[in-house]
Amino acid sequence: LASLEISPKPTVLRWDTGATGGGEVMIAAGPCGVESLEQTLTAAHYVKKHGAQMLRGGAFKPRTSPYSFQGMGQEGLEILAEARRQTGLPVVTEVVSPEQVDLVAAYADVLQIGARNAQNFALLQAAGQSGRAVLLKRGMSMTLEELLMSAEYILAQGNMRVILVERGIRTFEKSTRFTLDVSAVPVLKSLTHLPVWIDPSHAAGKRDWVTALALAGLAAGADGLIVETHPDPEKAQSDAAQQLNEAQFADMMSRVKALLPAL
Ligand code: PEP
Ligand code: MN
Repeated sequence: LASLEISPKPTVLRWDTGATGGGEVMIAAGPCGVESLEQTLTAAHYVKKHGAQMLRGGAFKPRTSPYSFQGMGQEGLEILAEARRQTGLPVVTEVVSPEQVDLVAAYADVLQIGARNAQNFALLQAAGQSGRAVLLKRGMSMTLEELLMSAEYILAQGNMRVILVERGIRTFEKSTRFTLDVSAVPVLKSLTHLPVWIDPSHAAGKRDWVTALALAGLAAGADGLIVETHPDPEKAQSDAAQQLNEAQFADMMSRVKALLPAL
């Protein structure tokens, strides 16, 4: 169902603030995790001001260590809903288990399935039944063919609103957190009609490198970006090293607009 041979026309997903696919580009931005009402509202207002069309923020955080901050849960979802009410930005947030899909879908516009769950087939099927668009990240050790097969689990439930995200893969290189596979953009676009986005934040792992990767992804033809930014990145409870502060986010957005004047 993801194949261009089945549907040769690009899939375009639309919200009130913008669209992705078929030449349209959207930027989703916000903190890695929802940490407080104030932190999330501050980020939501400035990402909108600088031109983002969607707000990101995790309420359920899939952390490598069980002792790390796991997210605010339902309270975090309520904060995201308030941010949407104040800004009009649609919200993308992660869901980490099939049992939580209904809860997260009640608050979110887009369900995010993270790299660590990209082959959690029960979760993919539940997201496929949710009625919400799904942003599916590539697992850090997944081939592009495997990513498309994961998308197939969602599509097979009758949900055609799927965004594929390249967020960096594991290689021998240790300077960056992951290695951004820019080739994923043209390769996926030769195979599928689904929108393809880049997550430069998790690939870079360090804020100084995020803008370059974002621009590389868009230059390669990506239909969108999902970027982490935090009002006070040093104090972030997750992914502190890679989140842009407001000034850095504004700078990234001005470079993105220089590359894509139509945005
Ligand atoms: C995130 O978006 O904060 C996240 C956990 O991303 P990934 O699943 O790509 O690691
Ligand atoms: Mn993160």
